[in-house]
Amino acid sequence: MSDTIFGKIANGEVSADLVYEDEHVVAFRDLNPQAPVHVLVIPRKPIPTLSAAGTEDAELLGRLMLTAAKVAEQEGIAEQGYRTVINCNAGAGQTVYHLHLHVIGGRPLQWPPG
Ligand code: IMP
Repeated sequence: MSDTIFGKIANGEVSADLVYEDEHVVAFRDLNPQAPVHVLVIPRKPIPTLSAAGTEDAELLGRLMLTAAKVAEQEGIAEQGYRTVINCNAGAGQTVYHLHLHVIGGRPLQWPPG
């Protein structure tokens, strides 16, 4: 069970602009996009943050990464390049405590990020 907005998106209680979903993961457009393509990939399982993932989640974490790559292909940004980001805990800017992988692209990206 999860009370977060992303948990509600995962179980269909709250609508989102979905770009991909399967039995394990859901991907949807960020409400406040930081680039022309900004998609969030989440596990259906409500893991609060990366630090809370365990070895039992290893396959699921791999699925998140593979879904990010699939979404990037689908969105047409794979060749030009894109960034995946997980903000872990408040000091890194995490605001929603349901693990999510940002997929960001469609414009030049600077490094290091802020
Ligand atoms: P965080 O800062 O890494 O936790 O990222 C949370 C992201 O979720 C932010 O980029 C928000 O714009 C985004 N967000 C928050 N609520 C929603 C929503 O209901 N739908 C889609 N994106 C959301």
